[in-house]
Formats: sequence, C-alpha cells, structure tokens
Amino acid sequence: MNSALARGMARKAGLPWPAPLRRHRPGDPLVPGTVLVLGGGAAAGAAEEILRGWGVEVRRNSGGAGPLGAIVLALDALRAPADLSAPALATGQALRQLVPGGRVVAYLRGEAGDAGDPVRAAARRGAEGFLRSLARELRGGATANGIVLGGETLCADAPSAVAALRFLLSGRSAYVDGQLVRVDTTAGTLPVDWELPLQGKVAVVTGAARGIGAAIARTLRRDGASVVGVDVPAAGEALAAVASQVGGTALQLDIVRPDAGQAILAHARERHGRLDIVVHNAGITRDRLLANMDRSRWESVVAVNLESQLRMNATFFDAGLQGLRIVSLASTSGIAGNRGQTNYAASKAGVMGMVGASAAAAAALGGGINAVAPGFIETDMTAAVPLATRAAARLLMPSLMQGGLPVDVAEAVGFLAWDAAAGINGQTLRVCGQSLVGA
Ligand code: NAD
Repeated sequence: MNSALARGMARKAGLPWPAPLRRHRPGDPLVPGTVLVLGGGAAAGAAEEILRGWGVEVRRNSGGAGPLGAIVLALDALRAPADLSAPALATGQALRQLVPGGRVVAYLRGEAGDAGDPVRAAARRGAEGFLRSLARELRGGATANGIVLGGETLCADAPSAVAALRFLLSGRSAYVDGQLVRVDTTAGTLPVDWELPLQGKVAVVTGAARGIGAAIARTLRRDGASVVGVDVPAAGEALAAVASQVGGTALQLDIVRPDAGQAILAHARERHGRLDIVVHNAGITRDRLLANMDRSRWESVVAVNLESQLRMNATFFDAGLQGLRIVSLASTSGIAGNRGQTNYAASKAGVMGMVGASAAAAAALGGGINAVAPGFIETDMTAAVPLATRAAARLLMPSLMQGGLPVDVAEAVGFLAWDAAAGINGQTLRVCGQSLVGA
C-alpha cells in the first residue's frame, strides 16, 4: 500500500492518497513551529500567555512571514455576523504558511445565553459552520477544531479550556477534525507534567484484550496510569499479554454479569488501592437488516454495549468514588445511523444519552462522564480490504483521506480521563477524521 508504485497508480486513477498524520510521540514539541494568534476576543491574550508558558513561539501579526505550526483564532467575542469576516479572511491568508500536520484551534462562545438575541446567536453559530468547513479544506494532515467556552463569562484560562488547547494542538488529536469541545465549568486541575497527565491514577479498561481497548490500555499506561484490563474469560490469554505489556493486572469478567461493577471495584481496590478512571470500551456488533433481525442479536448488543454500562455506573456512583472519570465508547453509527446496524446504533446512541444524563451525578462526586465516538478506524481487518475499496472509503474522509488508528481513539479517551478535563462533562467527542457520516 505504501509503495511508490501503489501511490503512482492511485494518483493516475485520481484516487485520494493520505498524508501521514502527526501523532504524539513523548518528547516531541507540542506544535511543529510558531503559533499565529488571531482574532479580537479575550481568548487571544489568554492563549498567547498560555502558549508562551509552554515555551511555544507566538506571533500576533498576520502579515508576518515564515512557516506556522498552528493558528489559534479567538472568535469568542463575536456580536454580529459581520464580526467574523476579518478573522476568517486573515486565517485564509495565513493558511498558506501552515505546515503539514499543523493545527487550527478556534475559541467560540456557547449559545446558551443567546435566547432573544438572534443577531449574536447567528454570529456564534456562523463561526461553527465556518470552522467545520475550514477543517474540510485543510490538507497535509492538518486539522481544525474548536473550544466552545460555555456561558458568558468562562475564560480561555479555565483548566479544561487549557487542557483542550493542549490536546487539540498536539499530536494526540491527530484524527479529531472539525469538532467542538465544550467547556462548561472552571473545574479541573492541570497536571504537574503534561507528558504524564495520568500519573498516580488507576484506570479500568473493559475489552482490553485487543483492538481499541488494548490501544487504550497502552496509552493510559504511557501517560502514567496503572491499568486493570477486563475481558471475557475466552480472551484470557490475549488479555494477560496486554496486562503484562502495560505492567497492569487482568480481570477476566463478562461485563454483562449483574455484579460486574462490584467485581471491578473489588479488584481495583484490592490490587491497586483505588479506582479513578473507568473506560467502557467492550462492545460487540451483530449486524443484520432489521427485517432479518432476531431477538438474540438485538438483545445481546444492547446488553453488552449499553445496559452493562448503566448497571456498572450505578454501582460506581453508589460507591461514592470521588473524582471518578468515566469514558464510554460510542460510534458515529449512533449519530448518523448505519444500514444493518439498528441494534448497534441504538446501543451507541443510547451511550451518548447515558453520558449526557449522568453528567450531573458524576459532577456531584467531583468527576465526569463523556463519550468518544470513533468513525472509520483502520485495524488489521480493514488492512485486508482491497486498495480500491479503501480508497473509496477514504473519499468519505475528504480532508484527512484515511481511516483513524486505534491509538487515535485511545488518545481522545486519555484526554477525557485527565483531571484537567473536569470542566468537560456529558459530551461526545467524535474521532472520525471529519467523516461525511453523521452530524
Ligand atoms: P473488538 O471486537 O476488536 O474488541 C472488543 C473487545 O471487547 C474484545 O476483546 C471482546 O472480547 C471484548 N468484549 C466483548 N464482549 C464483552 C463482554 N461481555 N465482557 C467483557 N469483554 C467483552 O472491537 P474494537 O473494534 O476494538 O472496538 C472497541 C469499541 O469501540 C467497541 O465498543 C466498538 O463498538 C467501538 N467502535 C469501534 C469502531 C471501529 O472502527 N473498530 C468504530 C466505532 C466504535
């Protein structure tokens, strides 16, 4: 696939060919060059200060020359649609200087306070449309995302806004594109060491024996957490291998069991002394067109992907685990729907409903609950798909032109598990390379 011959053939056939994505490697600089800060909102000054504190070179003048690692755009003070034109056009001028793997991160203001102010609401929503379209125009593995500052007073220096800026600028967000991260409160604590944001934490990952779950276990470990891997007894050997690789422990458990939550809690406390992070990753598909769907396919998918999580969360909340951060795996199928996946989409949309409605209970304990919705993730399985089919699938990801990797999902899960992400709650973050599928 990566040979010069295959690349040449794809070019001739007019098929898309993906640029390599800039992914996180410990020790790499946060951004691959100078950051240009544009826009008139208060977030511009705050971002400049935060970036300089991280040792990043910052420029405020859009007329300057030289390559740019990122553009940070403060659109948090828009009052009317006309306010968007100057920063949007200045961004357009600067795009030519954005390096491959570069980032555009915009600060937006939430629309919560806009009832009765259609002019301001139009400006704010307009900025969203602008940003999502800009993301589709970027090339060379560059991405554009937004940080939505909730309410009228939340500032860019709120811990979760700082954490979101860090995540979105970094290689950790390689496959997050055209998305908005909403920060609602000033909750959260910044890590002492940004390379080890999960230092001292104990994390449980279900479905850790392979695929995305194994990638999550490795990523959480890399970032400092002790990891408990959970999977069904039938996957015991693979689970033990992952657990040993990450220096963690393995718990063979079918999460559908009514006492799964208690079993996880008991294991984490006995072997690691505490439980700080739960990643509900285990999931199954049993695809069939609805006309051919049988009860067992329907009920098993809902039982594993959704009902088990509801039950386990109830156990964790009842136990009063302080600061617990929960991250659930949803799917873009649950947002857009997918032929042959009525059961799966119902379970994954259900996960998004669940996290939204559980946010208050999690926050009451000083924690949070969010979901990550992966799109097309390239695994060993998809690598076997013929070149032309893969190239066609890439047309659905018109900006990045490739599927994501399990590690891309793992990085987003890791970010939402940071203490610094405590002001982000009840949300679903898509990791989909701005796939055309879904909202
Ligand atoms: P996978 O099938 O490779 O791995 C899932 C793991 O969960 C397996 O190890 C399996 O044994 C385990 N598991 C299943 N049922 C279990 C149970 N009852 N108790 C304990 N463990 C159980 O799947 P994956 O592709 O790595 O997907 C991981 C998650 O991401 C799933 O929730 C999936 O729905 C979601 N997702 C995946 C994609 C993708 O493209 N792969 C896209 C969107 C969402």
